[in-house]
Amino acid sequence: MSYDISYNWLKELSSLANEYSSNIIQVAGGSALSTGWNVVLDELPFIDALCYSEGEKAMLSLLDSDDILNTISCDPWVTIDKINEGYIPKPLYEDLSKVISVDYDLVDLKSYGMKEAFSPFLINKIKKQFFIVTSRGCPYKCIFCASSSLHGGKMRLADLDSIEKHIENLQSKYGINVLTIYDDQLLINKERAKKFFKILVKFKLRIEMPNGLSVAFFDEELADIMKEAGVDTIYLAVESGSERVLKDIIRKPLNLNKVHPVVKMLQEKGFFVVGFFIFGLPGETEYDRFITREFIKNVAFDWSFFNYATPLRGSELYNICVDNNWIDPDYNKIGSVDMTEYIINSPGINKEELKKFIFDINLDVNFVNNAAFRRGDYQIAKQSFKEVLSRHYEQPFAHFYLSKVLNLLDPGSDQIAHHKSEFSGILREDPQWNNSAIEFNLINK
Ligand code: SF4
Repeated sequence: MSYDISYNWLKELSSLANEYSSNIIQVAGGSALSTGWNVVLDELPFIDALCYSEGEKAMLSLLDSDDILNTISCDPWVTIDKINEGYIPKPLYEDLSKVISVDYDLVDLKSYGMKEAFSPFLINKIKKQFFIVTSRGCPYKCIFCASSSLHGGKMRLADLDSIEKHIENLQSKYGINVLTIYDDQLLINKERAKKFFKILVKFKLRIEMPNGLSVAFFDEELADIMKEAGVDTIYLAVESGSERVLKDIIRKPLNLNKVHPVVKMLQEKGFFVVGFFIFGLPGETEYDRFITREFIKNVAFDWSFFNYATPLRGSELYNICVDNNWIDPDYNKIGSVDMTEYIINSPGINKEELKKFIFDINLDVNFVNNAAFRRGDYQIAKQSFKEVLSRHYEQPFAHFYLSKVLNLLDPGSDQIAHHKSEFSGILREDPQWNNSAIEFNLINK
């Protein structure tokens, strides 16, 4: 259970397994359980034990065990009996070098893939995608992040030899061509990061890092090595264009003055640069949102993603919201936090206005003022709009701007009329989209 939202599936699976046989020993794990262990064991009677913190060795000890009940009585397993005796779970931090080499012979690879993260450079041939986490933890303490409560605020790094061997194996055995890296803070040790990407060069993979990287650690040398290694898209976790929000609310050590030069340098080297932003943190004002919107346009990210601030269990934001009674009661139960909804009731933030703001800023910066389109990089703009349609075919602004860009690239294309007609069709069916098209002045353009 990686996220709260998976709780309902866990609940259903657990009762199905129990219907099948009450003799099955049920265990569960994942980061959302490590922050919600007490609630889950209380609510799900068929779960015998939860794995607190990291689970690789814990699962192995269970599989190797001759006496499972005895094994789950040991750390890092948590049981209801142990809780009743006042047990406080202790985290288990793996030696990452020893858990890098996952044996994919035990995995149904066809069921294990995921769509690559948003990018105009997705691989078109048959995709053999594998995932890796080369480090765990992060020394920072952004208010909305649960990383420090899961990993103790420290970084652990797997050694580069074990990673190299693992990727060699993935290549020779399975023909890997896409590597997705899910570290929280991949670049923090810059020398290691440079060595790591140098190692990756020889594998000729497409490399993606959809978790977002820190602006602070980029320099030209690192960017060049990343490019050579097969990185084409850089996701930057910027979060806000307001110094005040970054410093006083999120407490993220980011100097906003560095963002524009880094983005420009990356774009000049041919990277597609994506920014991640969060809105709706308690204390954020309309002005903070306004300057963030201007900041995004000035920096000219190739694409930007916007999320609601979500009080994840284990984050400081969660504690603040609980202490102040700011979580909507409908969502204050495990399994009910949906990250696509805004669930904080803090003073000064109107939910409907925030929702409308996020809806509009996406249309504004990614479509109406699309940076690639504005600078005449029409191929990139075209691929970006196509990528939106491959995920959300009913997005009329993508149809509209795709028809515009096709008109510039290939004026004879019959796709121009097709996308125009899709645009008009969606507007006829959906009054909300129609209003947005009027608001952004797209009708009769
Ligand atoms: S959001 Fe990123 S930088 Fe901030 S604490 Fe979490 S992992 Fe670290």
